[in-house]
Amino acid sequence: MITDGKFGKYGGIFVPELLIPALEELEKAFLKYKDDDEFNQELDYYLKEFAGRPTALYYARNLSEKLGCKIYLKREDMLHTGAHKINNTLGQGLLAKYMGKTRIIAETGAGQHGIATAVVGSLLGIPVDVYMGLEDVERQKLNVFRMELSGARVLPVKTGSQTLKDAINDAFRDWVGSVENTHYLIGSTMGPHPYPTMVKHFQTIIGREAREEILQKEGKLPDAVIACVGGGSNSMGIFSGFMDDKEVELIGVEGGGYGVETDRTGATLCKGTEGILHGSFSFVLQNDDGQINEAHSVSAGLDYPGVGPEHAYLQTIGRARYVAINNEEALRGFELLSRYEGIIPALESSHAIAYAEKYAKMPENKGKTIVVNLSGRGDKDMFLVAREMGVEV
Ligand SMILES: *Cc1c(COP(=O)(O)O)cnc(C)c1O
Repeated sequence: MITDGKFGKYGGIFVPELLIPALEELEKAFLKYKDDDEFNQELDYYLKEFAGRPTALYYARNLSEKLGCKIYLKREDMLHTGAHKINNTLGQGLLAKYMGKTRIIAETGAGQHGIATAVVGSLLGIPVDVYMGLEDVERQKLNVFRMELSGARVLPVKTGSQTLKDAINDAFRDWVGSVENTHYLIGSTMGPHPYPTMVKHFQTIIGREAREEILQKEGKLPDAVIACVGGGSNSMGIFSGFMDDKEVELIGVEGGGYGVETDRTGATLCKGTEGILHGSFSFVLQNDDGQINEAHSVSAGLDYPGVGPEHAYLQTIGRARYVAINNEEALRGFELLSRYEGIIPALESSHAIAYAEKYAKMPENKGKTIVVNLSGRGDKDMFLVAREMGVEV
């Protein structure tokens, strides 16, 4: 029997009856293999040799001097395929293999999760089909090409707004009919149970490493841990390492888009209300009739109208707090880290950098030690940022 997968009143399983057996099978396999020595040895091997773990906790000296705080960066941007997503796709990919699945499906917005899934399919010899909104396919031709080079098939989704949330719906629809041989590899701490718990599990490596590294470098825990929140996986990964250390402030940074006071935002916890999206009860961006709004953020990874249920819970109990950084501020964060540290961050991660700057500048935070999760690198965002800056490349 499947457990309820609740975080307080959030989370759970809100899917068509037909999908319940698939989720039950997945939970059972996850619970079995997460503590299996052979599985964990193989996963550790790939995390180290294929993805490039452990990642450094880098002391950003120049930025620290400029801001009057001690700022450390958890370098998930150094991983293969450029972000933390590979931790989860390796974990679930391997789980699919141990479950005897011969096909993997995934959804992708801008393509980052699609790429991280495609390379794992290639690595493990499992065919991958990626659902992607037609509008995203046309906007992100280079990423489609990357996925196809790794042997994945990209399936354009022509329903609804032809973006991420429609791709997720189509992936679920596929899975209803294909569960016997297919694993659906969800890319963040969202969706029905067991996904939020399972994706978090595969991302806790970030927090475990970061905790050990900061203790080694500073001899004490940080005052604050700051991470960006889309679906919530990189933040949940790093938060998990400090969850029981009540003195460590946990701060999630949402994509504010054009500002939380407008309707063009991706800040689900700051601006949304309770509701069900993609199989889970959490916060969503919706109108008064319960219609899901389009999310907006300059960074594709924060452009999701839902958020992982455990974050909704952490906000409710006050263990973590959530803030929004708008597009303009994120672009300044992007420039700040590039200029002072020679590290070009992903636009998603730039939101965390921008809030770290704000936090450091508050008089009461002077001299504090801050860990920022640098979830990914900015190569993918160069053309967009150049355009925003009015630079021709
Ligand atoms: C996808 C992505 C995110 C957002 O996803 P989470 O599940 O919230 O971590 C953040 N940063 C980068 C670099 C990403 O690619």
